[in-house]
Amino acid sequence: GYSKKKQLDVVVVGAGLVGSLEAVYLAKRGHRVRLYEFREDIRKTPTARGRSINLALSVRGRRALRDVGLEAHMVKEHGIPMTGRRIHRTDGSTYAIPYDANTKQSIYSVGRNYLNGLLLQESEKYENVERYFNHKLIEANLKKGSLTFLKTDTNETVHVTADLIIGADGAFSAVRKAMTKRPFFDFSQKYIEHGYLELCIPPDDNGGFQMPPNFLHIWPRGEFMMIALPNQDCSWTVTLFMPFTKFKNLDTEEKLLAFFEKYFPDSIPLIGRKKLIEDFFAESPSPLVAIKCRPYHVEDKALLIGDAAHAVVPFYGQGMNAGFEDCTLLDELFQKHNDSLAEILTEFSETRWEDTFAVSDLAMYNYIEMRDLVTRTSYRLRKAMDDFIFWLLPNFWVPLYNSVTFSTMPYSQCIKNREWQDKILKRTLSFAGLALVIGGAVSFKIKYYGLY
Ligand code: FAD
Repeated sequence: GYSKKKQLDVVVVGAGLVGSLEAVYLAKRGHRVRLYEFREDIRKTPTARGRSINLALSVRGRRALRDVGLEAHMVKEHGIPMTGRRIHRTDGSTYAIPYDANTKQSIYSVGRNYLNGLLLQESEKYENVERYFNHKLIEANLKKGSLTFLKTDTNETVHVTADLIIGADGAFSAVRKAMTKRPFFDFSQKYIEHGYLELCIPPDDNGGFQMPPNFLHIWPRGEFMMIALPNQDCSWTVTLFMPFTKFKNLDTEEKLLAFFEKYFPDSIPLIGRKKLIEDFFAESPSPLVAIKCRPYHVEDKALLIGDAAHAVVPFYGQGMNAGFEDCTLLDELFQKHNDSLAEILTEFSETRWEDTFAVSDLAMYNYIEMRDLVTRTSYRLRKAMDDFIFWLLPNFWVPLYNSVTFSTMPYSQCIKNREWQDKILKRTLSFAGLALVIGGAVSFKIKYYGLY
């Protein structure tokens, strides 16, 4: 017979990208959701600076947005497709390395505040979601499901209890902090030596883009790099990633300009000399931290998702995408276990960490690829080989970047897949042998399927 499902009372801490999305997922399931956020409503302070201004959205994030009905809008109306990397040499010449030469998929540059605002707006369509801004979590008893917030505008404290607490409060999560006292909670935090600083290339005089827009531009310089992602208003957000010691040395206008003239000369007229100096000295570089922890849950009461569970360095463009994927997987577990929290949280904890640890390692690796390896012949040879075999055997050989960015293959599987490919390439060795196999496959493919 028919039995009415229990409506769970859920508190989500943090209305950033992941918390806002999770609120919508839960609302769709009919649960009561209260969303608590430390800052003001981001829609009222459109210039508020959080982390990066724009981000790369790829397949995992898109899948989650599709589930809540926002993918088409984000990708078609707002996202700017980036078909590949555009590498800037020091002499100002550039060349493109497509992300996906075969199936021509793109990643999308999206505005962080825009996406966050859109998710909050979507949550307003559900009567079962309440939003509380200017509420900072200051104390938690997770086992009891009780939380204490400080209202930052009035200095009052508010006590709240819930069936389930979801910590989506970012890399420095207060919910996670409450977990660290529990036995068997493993936690590690790693700051890298590099920090980042954001600059801006404004639109040209006609309000258009000053560089070809459908690329992620990179100025790889070995130990450091600069990148640029396009914005809706035809400006570019430029991010300089560099060791803090190097930032520190650039302490005068002369040193800054000399540095840019040596390493990024073509960017100076694009940014503008005056603006470069102003923006560079207006803010100090921000640190980058990677966090790994487990388990993500406390009994049937609390769960960490997004950066609170697994902050990663930004070099694979996967932080938000992985956080959004958390929400998708969690939703599948709500379905699978029919809202039974103990089972849902346990399975999430037990199955998710391996993949988030994997994406964290991939992100660390990709920094070296982006700032250094991309310029090397060995890298370009390997990529050419990868792309070629991928073209021949698209279901059999998916290159690492494609599996991470354009598929929903579990991240740990992406790494295993790559290890397996490395082995094959090494073993199938005898170059002649490989050439024969490929040559045979090419002529077979051309004979039966034509060139493309
Ligand atoms: P956050 O975005 O940090 O949101 C957490 C929210 O919790 C915030 O609103 C905060 O105010 C709130 N909060 C914190 N403490 C409390 C408290 N005590 N009480 C109440 N609320 C609280 N990812 C990509 O996928 N693609 C990219 O291209 C990309 N580029 C990046 C570039 C840079 C420079 C950086 C730093 C990150 C990048 N990321 C990227 C990663 C991405 O920014 C994060 O993974 C994403 O923001 C995580 O979302 P979140 O909601 O988990 O955490």
